[in-house]
Amino acid sequence: MNGNTLRKTPLLQVKNLKKYFNVNKKKLKAVDGITVDIYAGETLGLVGESGCGKSTVGRTMIRLHTPTEGEVLYKGVNLFSLSEREMMKMRRDIQIIFQDPYASLNPRMTVEEIIGEPFAIHGTLHGKKKRERIKELLNLVGLQSEHMNRFPHEFSGGQRQRIGIARALALEPRFIVCDEPISALDVSIQAQVVNLLKELQQKMGLTYLFIAHDLSMVKYISDRILVMYLGNMVELTDSAHLYDEPLHPYTKALLSAVPIPDPEIKRERIVLKGDVPSPIEPPSGCVFRTRCPEAMDICARVKPTWQEVKLDHYTACHLYE
Ligand code: ADP
Repeated sequence: MNGNTLRKTPLLQVKNLKKYFNVNKKKLKAVDGITVDIYAGETLGLVGESGCGKSTVGRTMIRLHTPTEGEVLYKGVNLFSLSEREMMKMRRDIQIIFQDPYASLNPRMTVEEIIGEPFAIHGTLHGKKKRERIKELLNLVGLQSEHMNRFPHEFSGGQRQRIGIARALALEPRFIVCDEPISALDVSIQAQVVNLLKELQQKMGLTYLFIAHDLSMVKYISDRILVMYLGNMVELTDSAHLYDEPLHPYTKALLSAVPIPDPEIKRERIVLKGDVPSPIEPPSGCVFRTRCPEAMDICARVKPTWQEVKLDHYTACHLYE
């Protein structure tokens, strides 16, 4: 750990987080032991193929799912030990933005009602003050006050995501889980939404967990990136290092799929064999070994340990033990 890291304050500390779902009387291990600090003011990217448990991490952390095991400390307070009432208060600080803004916005509510809903639930603002604040929020996310009386279907995908962001910001949160907020948007719109999120982070001192299923856009918003596979942690380091010096074979494969804008640079595409195994019966030892191009005998027998292989660069892989 260097001096830099020591000076950073964790806003959230996720400790051995597990979430198992019961499916046909079997345990589906969606999240199987995630431990990570999220520092105040940073964006932690959370990356992995679809189905690897990213969304479940985000939702369980903020108690939208009941955790199976583990702790999440927010400013030192364990969210999982709070009563419903105490958690309700905490929800002002902790918000979520969803992937599909159309599904998460009530189609029968006007924009004013949607963005105003958190004020109604928490009883914080009323009447004229509330309307003024809604206008302010619309302007903050690049929409106009006139949009207040319209319905979600009257907007484009990008604008709908802006409405979702305005709603998440209503109660001036400190931490936002951004659950694939750009995945459903056209590529041309993705950068605009990422830039808006960055801008808002600067202005409001926000901390993000930014979930994405590929590594192409996440680099531009994340300070550090955590790679996951089948409910487990694979690799964690700052964005630049992850792109320049990936350690884990899974990260290398994910990166090989990211297009490089410079035609001079050629990167060999690593195609992983087979499908992601079922989280109901994950492979023994290293869960990635059935698809790993570098798997060794030990990988089937022993689960690799999570360790700091280089300064501030962590991975769990027998190649580095
Ligand atoms: P990701 O966000 O990486 O796409 P998810 O967290 O959505 O992955 O899902 C992880 C695993 O948990 C998947 O196998 C998914 O089918 C399963 N899962 C997610 N939510 C539920 C649920 N409510 N009930 C049962 N299984 C679920």
